[in-house]
Amino acid sequence: MLHSIAKVVVDLALDREFDYRIPAALAGQVHVGSRVAVPFGTRVAQGYVVGLATESTHPKLKEITELLSKKPLLGDKILELTRWMGKYYCCPVELCVKCALPEVVRKAQISWKERQYARLGTIGDADFAKLQKKAPKQAHVIEVLRREEGMFVARLCESADTDAATVKKLAEKGFVTITDQTEERDPFGGEVFLPTEPLKLNTEQQHALDLCLAQIAKPQSPVLIHGVTGSGKTEIYLQAIAAALHAGKDSIVLVPEISLTPQTVERFRARFPNQAITVLHSHLSAGERHDQWHKIHNGESHIVIGARSAIFAPVRALGLIIVDEEHETSYKQEEAPRYNARDLAVMRGKLEGAAVVLGSATPSLESYYNAQRGRYVLAELPRRVDNIKMPLMRIVDLRQEAIRNKGVHVLSSRLHGAIQARLDKREQVILFLNRRGFATHCFCPRCGYVAECPNCSIALTFHRQHNRLLCHLCDHTQPVPKVCPKPDCRDPAIRYSGMGTEKVESALQKAFPKARVQRMDADVMTKKSLYREIFNAFRVGKIDILVGTQMIAKGLHFPNVTLVGIIHADMALHLPDFRAGERTFQLLVQVAGRAGRGDIEGEVVVQSYTPFHPAIQYARQHDYRGFYDQEIEFRQQLYYPPYTRMVALTVRSRSEGKAKFVTETIAKDLAQQLTGFKAIVGEPAPAPLARIQTFYRYQLIARSERILELSAAVARAITGRKWPDDVTVSIDVDPLSLL
Ligand code: ADP
Ligand code: ZN
Repeated sequence: MLHSIAKVVVDLALDREFDYRIPAALAGQVHVGSRVAVPFGTRVAQGYVVGLATESTHPKLKEITELLSKKPLLGDKILELTRWMGKYYCCPVELCVKCALPEVVRKAQISWKERQYARLGTIGDADFAKLQKKAPKQAHVIEVLRREEGMFVARLCESADTDAATVKKLAEKGFVTITDQTEERDPFGGEVFLPTEPLKLNTEQQHALDLCLAQIAKPQSPVLIHGVTGSGKTEIYLQAIAAALHAGKDSIVLVPEISLTPQTVERFRARFPNQAITVLHSHLSAGERHDQWHKIHNGESHIVIGARSAIFAPVRALGLIIVDEEHETSYKQEEAPRYNARDLAVMRGKLEGAAVVLGSATPSLESYYNAQRGRYVLAELPRRVDNIKMPLMRIVDLRQEAIRNKGVHVLSSRLHGAIQARLDKREQVILFLNRRGFATHCFCPRCGYVAECPNCSIALTFHRQHNRLLCHLCDHTQPVPKVCPKPDCRDPAIRYSGMGTEKVESALQKAFPKARVQRMDADVMTKKSLYREIFNAFRVGKIDILVGTQMIAKGLHFPNVTLVGIIHADMALHLPDFRAGERTFQLLVQVAGRAGRGDIEGEVVVQSYTPFHPAIQYARQHDYRGFYDQEIEFRQQLYYPPYTRMVALTVRSRSEGKAKFVTETIAKDLAQQLTGFKAIVGEPAPAPLARIQTFYRYQLIARSERILELSAAVARAITGRKWPDDVTVSIDVDPLSLL
């Protein structure tokens, strides 16, 4: 049956599908995923066909003006995924379609890069001999070209140490032919790697791989690999991908953006030297992204490695999706559509009949709970490869330390001693503190004034590097006050408290003046290339101590690092978020994983004011299961995820009254929509970050064991509503941050 109606999502910011008639001239050519031009109001708009139908409820339909691409850009399955996303995450399907297609592909303004390509023409021996005598430079170009089938002119000039004019002269004589050829913009910069062979797996690895292979052969449920850092998870991924390739199937590997380093990609390229592996991440140039995406779309690449959005990679024959570090919060997009790429992976696997493998040393409670309930298949790798010991974790009680030293210092005497010992042995140290700047508060000890951001409800951080106060939410900065700004106080004794990475750096310089210390945080990382530079300097031993935030906690191994210090383990523990304990546990275990991956046993020193908190104690024992068991009980008692599912609504407005009023209205409507099944709707309340960038924020949190019903009820409660001007409502399904 021929479809005569196309459902089109238009590029303009609209949240609906529109029906258009397919003109007779285009019958049979318009497919789901086709790009079309359509009349829209008084203008012509571009859009995508997201569905086909034979009839429409609208009596008068306009016709599609033009078919812009013959080959559909979005496959049926990805479209189905975007429709599911729209429902599940309560967001317009158009936004989901946008998400699935990178902007360079959508707007189609960038194309392949065409460059001049030179091949050897016809040149006889006599001609060549003549050239050698009269024009040795030209002769040299011919010699270089004889060694290769052909070369881009730019590279030819480089290799033959000459200029384009010389090549042009040869072309005029017919000795060289020049054509335009597309050149792929290669994000790897043409690097080559030494190939590696599959390693012989140990028993646990083999068991985990077997579970993955069974799923590749016959996908039923996702596999969760819970393996301590260094247990050889990546090796399992590599062998699973090889098996998929062997079966003619494509793989997508998701890794957190921060660990998508050249090192990571290198491991995959080295194992599959004959495969066109593509990468997708946010640091690609528009041209590179265009080329990578089309290479996948054309079926030339069978292995895709990427960050969050790579879950939409248009591979042809998807057989395997791997999500490494599945607990990572960076898989969650923090703007609409607020999807979690891990959960989309599970859904896409289901839709396309592909195996899904999730891996982590510290699985999210959600995933482990799914494994416990039999929804996921669980593989445990409790040991490091070759039985390298887990690092020794020592907890320093900062309360005792404060009494002993009459005050708190950045480095406890234990940490100080441990660093000294490493410096003496020429081993390396990583120190971690997840707060940049020098001091977290600037206050007046006489009247209690605290310098706060005028736009946000948080204290300003003192940055010594720039000698200014800075807001970490909105980047507002102001000079440091010389006297207390309170008119009735004016005390000159302004003080600072709380610490950031700058302060750790300065304490280290004082304590170990000879040590080479490098700080690594968002203030230092002003250029993308610095990341690589600093890590390389650290790797070759030009840095003794690396101090940093979150960005040094992940995925890298430095065999000579034998000590990791965690300056303030409680930092995340007291955030008003029910996942605070889980985050702290994950962080400690992940950071500890950086210590002692070589032949020397590692040590971790954790400084804390609450050394007996379960998150810290279980991390100390490397006891994931112990932590999980007590945490899941707590979640169940309080009716929190993963035991239930959650939707958070945030209402923003410059007027606090409006924000509050709208939140209360929604709460009432939602309560009505929810009659008939078990759900809890919290009280409308200011969000923990009650004001950001001059906007007041109110929050409403709803929980239920049945997420799809809850999502649908939220959608019913808010669709079609008109809010007062200047009020925005955002919906977060399965929120990861409640601040
Ligand atoms: P994970 O991804 O769990 O952190 P990796 O896969 O990176 O662990 O493995 C850690 C190290 O052990 C790597 O250097 C890897 O090459 C090596 N390795 C992994 N599996 C084996 C094995 N079966 N035999 C020998 N070495 C292995
Ligand atoms: Zn601010």
